[in-house]
Amino acid sequence: MNATSRQPKPRQTVTVAFGDGIGPEIMDSTLNILMAAGAQFDIDIIEIGKSVYQRGFSSGIEPSSWDSLRSTRVFLKAPITTPQGGGFKSLNVTIRKSLGLYANIRPCVAYAPFVKTRHPAMDVVVVRENEEDLYAGIEHRQTDEVMQCLKLITRPGCEKIVRYAFEYARKHGRKKVTCLTKDNIMKLTDGLFHSVFDEIALLHPDIESEHMIIDIGAARLADTPEMFDVIVTPNLYGDIVSDIAAQIAGSVGMAPSANIGDHGAMFEAIHGSAPDLAGQNVANPSGLLLAAVQMLVHLGQPDVAEKVHNAWLRTIEDGLHTFDIYTEGVSCQRLSTKEFTEAVVARLGQVPQTLTPVEYDEAEPEITILPYQRPAATTKDLVGVDVFLHWRDADPSEIARMLQAAEEPDLPLTMITNRGVKVWPEGLPETFCTDHWRCRFLSPQTVHKISHAQIIGLLTRISVSGMDFIKCENLCNFDGQPGFALGQGQ
Ligand code: NAD
Repeated sequence: MNATSRQPKPRQTVTVAFGDGIGPEIMDSTLNILMAAGAQFDIDIIEIGKSVYQRGFSSGIEPSSWDSLRSTRVFLKAPITTPQGGGFKSLNVTIRKSLGLYANIRPCVAYAPFVKTRHPAMDVVVVRENEEDLYAGIEHRQTDEVMQCLKLITRPGCEKIVRYAFEYARKHGRKKVTCLTKDNIMKLTDGLFHSVFDEIALLHPDIESEHMIIDIGAARLADTPEMFDVIVTPNLYGDIVSDIAAQIAGSVGMAPSANIGDHGAMFEAIHGSAPDLAGQNVANPSGLLLAAVQMLVHLGQPDVAEKVHNAWLRTIEDGLHTFDIYTEGVSCQRLSTKEFTEAVVARLGQVPQTLTPVEYDEAEPEITILPYQRPAATTKDLVGVDVFLHWRDADPSEIARMLQAAEEPDLPLTMITNRGVKVWPEGLPETFCTDHWRCRFLSPQTVHKISHAQIIGLLTRISVSGMDFIKCENLCNFDGQPGFALGQGQ
């Protein structure tokens, strides 16, 4: 590596939040190590989390803090505590989505033989989609008995994250990208993620690609993580599998997370605020520290990143461990957060002797992906409607009789489901029914296209006959292909 060829970017300001729980302790540790290593950046401190929620800001952040984030565009964030219950929104999700940080990169690496793990060769990077899926946070109570959360998967969202995963693999010399979805069940949403993955994999013949259903994929990850290299997956699955991966690599306290977008980046540990450890000077600061290492690379200071990372590896290798990774007979000393910090600072300038020292290449450009190109519009035909009813103690054939009386010409009732399972016509008496009914009106092939006015007419008659409709979903064909799933048992 040629240190003289490095061209650091002009001195930047980083927005820093100390967070809740163990947040202040691990942030102090991280900043102390970074400053001792000679990192060059100014700090703008903002307050986020519990105290801000308690002051009545439902997203856990005050409006003035957005000014800092929008001006620095680099955020080093300690974990926060999200209050339970309604009325509060997750700050992490809000920041990721508001700033368009679409890619969440979570490397999970084993440090055997120095940190106990059953998977000494493990080196997996989880690339988690960061803005969509069930984390869109669009939830509604529908009836007395039923809550709903909308799962949104978009083509631009899939394209961006899958392209990022392949470009990441290329840049970091990785051989394979594995896509995890549940498209055997969610054929439209996860099906889109999988099909975009297949399309983009074809454009990267130099990288091996494979798809697994998330359940067996997660089981194999927990059992044989060595078979994975880069994993790309929707938001919720990514959140779960990255915690599994971090924990089996050694400790959830050691894994970093970089949230990357076109207009900014946020760096944090993958773990939460661990209130059970707060104020005890025992937390492992490594997840946040390694996230800060990624931030230094992002700031154009790869030499400082390298110095910090190698000193940290040396500390781990010297058996100086916080309690979560301390193992009798493997570790040498069990350290507090502050002692661990001092141990890393004392090793700045040293490299590991057994673990592989890291090198960050200053010449490497940041990952860029092709801008999204909106595909040509499809031909969209309205062919029916699903009407959702709230009805307690109902009999499906009674609901059908009432709805058939309200039917539009050319828009007959074709099916009623409860929790997705067909209960009319010809339902099974064993099927348990809640108070939430999906009633499908579909035009026959001979008629096909219907109008919005016909749907409004239908809803009006349903309402007049005293039935409580909660919502409706239009059924459309796109280029002749149904844009809606069949009922289970249909
Ligand atoms: P958590 O990750 O905070 O803690 C789980 C357990 O992991 C802890 O009991 C602790 O034993 C261990 N652990 C976590 N970090 C550690 C560290 N640095 N060193 C040693 N051990 C560590 O998860 P939780 O208890 O489910 O959540 C606590 C709070 O954190 C919740 O309010 C949750 O909403 C929030 N949270 C925040 C973030 C974030 O800010 N990015 C992420 C996840 C959870």
